[in-house]
Amino acid sequence: SKERKVSGKEALTKLLRWHFGHSAYRGKQLEAIESVLSGRDCFCLMPTGGGKSICYQIPALAKPGIVLVVSPLIGFEFIECIVFLHDHSLNVMALKEKGVAAEYLSSTQTTQVRNKIHEELESGNPGLRLLYVTPELIATTGFMSKLTKIHSRGLLNLIAVDEAHCISTWGHDFRPSYRKLASLRKRLPGVPILALTATAVPKVQVDVIESLDMENPLVLKSSFNRPNIYYEVRFKDLLTDPYVDLTDLIKSCGDVCGIVYCLERTTCDDLASHLSTNGISCAAYHAGLNNKLRTSVLDDWISAKTQVVVATVAFGMVFYSPNSNLLFVGNFSLRQFILNNADNKKSPSSSLQDRPPKKSIDDFNLMVEYCETSGCRRKKILDSFGEQVSTSLCKKTCDACKNPNQVEKYLEELKAICSLGNRIGSSKIFVSSSSKPVDEVDFSEYWSRDDEAVVSEDDISDDDDGIDVQECLTQSALPSKSKFSEKMDFLQRAEEKYYQKNDHDKQSNKHDKNAISE
Ligand code: ADP
Repeated sequence: SKERKVSGKEALTKLLRWHFGHSAYRGKQLEAIESVLSGRDCFCLMPTGGGKSICYQIPALAKPGIVLVVSPLIGFEFIECIVFLHDHSLNVMALKEKGVAAEYLSSTQTTQVRNKIHEELESGNPGLRLLYVTPELIATTGFMSKLTKIHSRGLLNLIAVDEAHCISTWGHDFRPSYRKLASLRKRLPGVPILALTATAVPKVQVDVIESLDMENPLVLKSSFNRPNIYYEVRFKDLLTDPYVDLTDLIKSCGDVCGIVYCLERTTCDDLASHLSTNGISCAAYHAGLNNKLRTSVLDDWISAKTQVVVATVAFGMVFYSPNSNLLFVGNFSLRQFILNNADNKKSPSSSLQDRPPKKSIDDFNLMVEYCETSGCRRKKILDSFGEQVSTSLCKKTCDACKNPNQVEKYLEELKAICSLGNRIGSSKIFVSSSSKPVDEVDFSEYWSRDDEAVVSEDDISDDDDGIDVQECLTQSALPSKSKFSEKMDFLQRAEEKYYQKNDHDKQSNKHDKNAISE
């Protein structure tokens, strides 16, 4: 090609400005870009929203040839409490608007569209720069042989593996289809691999690097610290109604918008109506509402028509079954009840040992520790991401650093209250029926292996997600995963099946001139 390769910080920054409108690289972006442009593998750990995509989009613009991006068919971005669902088509549309020659290949396209992209790939000098594909497509022999051809013409510049933690069985989101990516290095030798993830567990990192056969990769880790967030835990006064406490808190915050997370739908409705009656512009959001209503609640909140949303996890958070999480407005005794209740209802057919169910308990314990620490909360959070930081980083932006005496005093009171009984900070109190300490509860029941998950078409049209506590209490078992994850699994399996079938058909029709591209 006559096009020149762009290199050097200034030239790369010009590309960033021109195509994406950002004035400078953030964090480790430039290091990642320079690494892959020089041909060196790179493992890039950045929090969600940290700007991982720039790390392969700029290399695609910097050099003629193709950057292959392997990512799940549907992904989600979790930015400051909201999940943005995105799929390949949306990514590609946004890139085209920015003048980036990008395409995607997926089973959701028509054969015509796919064939056109294949033609472009096969033509001597494709103008295409970025090609998004699913791991399921990579697994097909047909597509792999096309890639090999492109590679042999020296046109494959980079393989970016997004959500790379999905390759690891140690991760929280192992996907069997990612395992197929292990052969990329051997099949496409000499092409640098960029693995991107927001999952910080060291075991996963090692596993990803080994599984993808990465060679002496540059390992880049960005901080998960969010300096703009102030962390505070408020202890509930046992004598005051928590709704009154919360109303006062919100009013004291002035004209800001926010989310209050609750465990139960009924609490959402109750609390939202209480806040509304007390002059706070507020709406409830949970999976029990119809789609139209949910969309309008979300729109009103984003456009600041509504100040506060009282929600279950259905609002913008995607978790596997009851994970305790920092953004939950906690009700520990209820949560502990759910944890223990699951254990009591264990089914004898369980064969789920290899999932990391203990994670839920660890998360729960972390959450308790976070609330009951007298040390820096920011440090506690970053510790949980495996980041060693000094408390000086906080600069008094958490209550424990700002008012240590006050926090100590509350913790003393809390200890005294706990020693009196089990009534800790909840409007509805459930007493754990298990005599086991929470860290000994066997969590295997919460998880289901991918091949065992029962997913039907009905689940796809069923919009329910989040945990329905009433259901949990009355039915014999908790849902093994949130409905959302099931939907994701279903879509992924559908994609896999589609390609498997096509690949099989193609193999058996190898000599059929009319065989279509997969
Ligand atoms: P991730 O994949 O790590 O979750 P994205 O690549 O989707 O993150 O980027 C998150 C947001 O950050 C996007 O809106 C993107 O435009 C923005 N962004 C990325 N890099 C920069 C930068 N250098 N300067 C400003 N904004 C950036």
